[in-house]
Amino acid sequence: MVTRHETYDLSQRNTFGMKVSCRLYVEVTEPEDLLTLDFSSLPQPLFVMGGGSNLLFTRDFPGTVLHMGNRFLHPSGVRNDSRATGVRNDSGATGVRNDSRATGARNDSRATGVRNDSGATGVRNDKGALPVVPGDISVISSVISVVPSEAKESLSVRVAAGVVFDDFCAWAASEGLWGPENLSLIPGEVGASAVQNIGAYGVEAKDIIDTVHAFDLSTRTFVDIPGVDCGYGYRTSLFKTDWKGRYIITAVTFRLSTVPQPKLDYGGVRKALEARFLDSALPGSARNDKNTSVISTKAGGDAFVISTKAEGDSPVISTKAEGCVEKSVTPQMIRDTIIAIREKKLPDPKVIGSAGSFFCNPVIERAHFERIVAIAKAENGPDYEVPHYDVGERVKVPAAWMIDQCGFKGARLGGAQVYPNQPLVIVNATGEATPEEIIALEQRVIGTIRDKYGIELHPEVEHV
Ligand SMILES: Cc1cc2nc3c(=O)[nH]c(=O)nc-3n(C[C@H](O)[C@H](O)[C@H](O)COP(=O)(O)OP(=O)(O)OC[C@H]3O[C@@H](n4cnc5c(N)ncnc54)[C@H](O)[C@@H]3O)c2cc1C
Repeated sequence: MVTRHETYDLSQRNTFGMKVSCRLYVEVTEPEDLLTLDFSSLPQPLFVMGGGSNLLFTRDFPGTVLHMGNRFLHPSGVRNDSRATGVRNDSGATGVRNDSRATGARNDSRATGVRNDSGATGVRNDKGALPVVPGDISVISSVISVVPSEAKESLSVRVAAGVVFDDFCAWAASEGLWGPENLSLIPGEVGASAVQNIGAYGVEAKDIIDTVHAFDLSTRTFVDIPGVDCGYGYRTSLFKTDWKGRYIITAVTFRLSTVPQPKLDYGGVRKALEARFLDSALPGSARNDKNTSVISTKAGGDAFVISTKAEGDSPVISTKAEGCVEKSVTPQMIRDTIIAIREKKLPDPKVIGSAGSFFCNPVIERAHFERIVAIAKAENGPDYEVPHYDVGERVKVPAAWMIDQCGFKGARLGGAQVYPNQPLVIVNATGEATPEEIIALEQRVIGTIRDKYGIELHPEVEHV
């Protein structure tokens, strides 16, 4: 179905909360409708948007904003998991069909309920056999429950572009499937995740993207693009560069692992996980014990030993059995931990408007970095250490550090503010900030950093 709205208010459709409109808003719930949509009759330019969480609308948009509103989640493959009991793929043991490749993905969540993409071939719609994830997504199940020897290590899940990415993460974690858990709570939709190559806590979307399904506006056909051909890099892809404006992404097939693949060594995840879950796994007596305790417990079927040494009120948990965290952790535990970390650091877009990290972290020559170190030591003392990451011969310097050093933390300009808890984020502090105010603050930050450090910051947020 295609729904059109003239002079459409976008203020609820962008997480920055910019009060702007577009001349025409088109919602497409069934990708095959793209074949019959008369694009030449639409006000130009055409802009495809997802959840509007990486956008700064700088003014009323003079053309057409198109949104893919399809929402389905279609796992396919085999797994060794009793949770899938009763879920059958009637198309036979060979499995798993990609039901809408040539003609484009169909929207499976119409009013009549979940539709089965493969119609005539008779794959059964097993809605209800797997949990229905939040956000009215239809889970179309063609997972075959099998004996362990037949189980595979990965499972494909085709997810419609309009599914909220975090709903997909929630579903995967609830199913015990590995891959997207570190990307939990990143705002936005599945279609955009393949454009942006979203990333957090050591994982990027490209790590789990198998195929991007899209409508090619230049040939008016549906195409399947292997993830490896999408030119993925740090928060970028060919969809953002050479292919800009060419494709409307209709769905993404992700490859999830049925065997544990915890990624814990980034951004304090391991420490937070240990504090959160190992601590609560201890008997109350041990938790309250200010001295060393040695506990034998079971997790994930393996016995392991934890020794706790309390320092004040904060128990320090050290594992005696190497790797016991890896053995006992589940995707759900990692997801919960990451959500807790993110909620502390980042503004909730439902409460305070933003588009996440406003600037990219610059990568500079080492000699340039040494000059920055000299400035920082002159200001903060000879022992001061500038945070940085080596990127081959070059050095990545956190933009947040520079913004903070320039005294911008919490700085206000009208309704726009550099977020006090994370200076990389510019927020709509009053809910009334205008695009002009956000841009003025952005330019002030860029100019000050250019003058002080000789670095040109570039926005990560797309200006529309
Ligand atoms: C509080 C906050 C925290 C954030 N944290 C992170 C983070 O940790 N890591 C991270 O990587 N990002 C983060 N972001 C940025 C943002 O969530 C991501 O960039 C996200 O992928 C944007 O998704 P969206 O659906 O909102 O896309 P939009 O912002 O609507 O669009 C983004 C781009 O994708 C294109 N696009 C969208 N859908 C389609 C489609 N179906 N077909 C073709 N093109 C399409 C748009 O044209 C645009 O170029 C954060 C944002 C916020 C507000």
